[in-house]
Amino acid sequence: MKLSLIVPCFNEQDNVALFYETCAQVFQGVIPSYELIFVNDGSRDATWQRLKMIRERNPEAKLKLVNFSRNFGKEAAIYAGLQKAAGDYVTVIDADLQQRPEVVLEMVRLLDENEEVDCVAAYQEQRREGKFISFCKKMFYKLINKVCDIDFHDNASDFRTFRKRMAEAIVEMREYHRFSKGIFSWVGFNTHFIPYTAEERNAGQTSWSFWKLLKYACEGFLSFTTFPLRLSTYLGSIASLAAIIYLIVVVIQKLTNHIDVPGYATIVVLILLMSGIQLIMLGMIGEYLARVYIESKQRPICIEKEYLSYEDAE
Ligand code: UDP
Ligand code: MG
Repeated sequence: MKLSLIVPCFNEQDNVALFYETCAQVFQGVIPSYELIFVNDGSRDATWQRLKMIRERNPEAKLKLVNFSRNFGKEAAIYAGLQKAAGDYVTVIDADLQQRPEVVLEMVRLLDENEEVDCVAAYQEQRREGKFISFCKKMFYKLINKVCDIDFHDNASDFRTFRKRMAEAIVEMREYHRFSKGIFSWVGFNTHFIPYTAEERNAGQTSWSFWKLLKYACEGFLSFTTFPLRLSTYLGSIASLAAIIYLIVVVIQKLTNHIDVPGYATIVVLILLMSGIQLIMLGMIGEYLARVYIESKQRPICIEKEYLSYEDAE
C-alpha cells in the first residue's frame, strides 16, 4: 500500500461522497494503491450512512470506515486513523475539500524524490478568515514559539503527508489531551513546508468558533510548555523585590522623620492586584493538576463503535 488518507468527519454528510469521487479522479493512474480511512467523529447527521453507501456502491474501493461512539474531536479521529493506516505514506486531510487532493500528489512527489524528507506539511499562504482571528493566531504562534522548546511553524495546518516511521512515532504518543501541531513538531523528523491555498468549504460549516479556537490555543500551551507554572516564581520575585525596596524607603522616611500617612487607595489596589495574581496562578496550577488527574486515569483516546474494512471483505 503506497498511501493512506486519514479523513476525520464531523457532520460532513454533503461532503464525503464528493470527497471520495474527487480522490478517485485525482489519484487514478497516478498513485498505484491507496486506502481511504474515514473516521466518523460522532456526527449528528447522516455522515455514517453516507459512508456506508459509498462502500456499498464502490466494492472495489479500499475503504476503512471507523465510527466513534460519540464526538471525540478531530485529534482523536486522526489518532484512530493513524492506528489503522497501512500505507508507506500517510496523509491527514479534511473532508470538506478545503484541502485539495491535488496537493497530496505534490506531497507524494516530494517524498518520492527526497529520501531525506520525512514529512511534507502544507501551510496557508493567505488565510480565509477575519483580520482579528488572523491577528490572534499570529500572536499565538509568536508566544508559543517563545516559551516552547519545539518549533511551531506559522499557519502550518495538520494537512500533511509523512512516512510510516513518523506515523508510528505519533501513535506511540498516547496522551489524552492531544494537540496535533505540537505532536507533529515534538516527534521531530525532517519536515518540508509547502504553501497551499485553502478553498471555500464545499458544504456545511466550520466547527471552530472563536471560543473553541481559544480553548485549543490554551491546550497547546498547557500540553507543550510548563512555562506558566514558572511564571508565578517570576512574578513572586518581582513583587518581593518591590516590597524590599519599599521597605527600605519607609525605613529611611521614618529615620528622617518624613512620615506621610499611608494612602487608603494604595493599599486597596495592592491587595486586589496581589490576590488577583495569586488566584490566576492557582488557576494555572489547577489546569496542570487537572491534566495530571485525567492522564493518570489512562482513559482511551476514543471509543470505536463500528469498524468496516476492505481487508475483512478480502
Ligand atoms: N472534525 C472532526 N471532529 C470535530 C470537528 C471537526 O473530525 O469535532 C473534522 C471535520 O469534519 C473536518 C476537519 O475536522 O474534516 C476540519 O474541520 P473544519 O472544517 O470544521 O475546520 P476548519 O477547516 O474550519 O479549520
Ligand atoms: Mg474545513
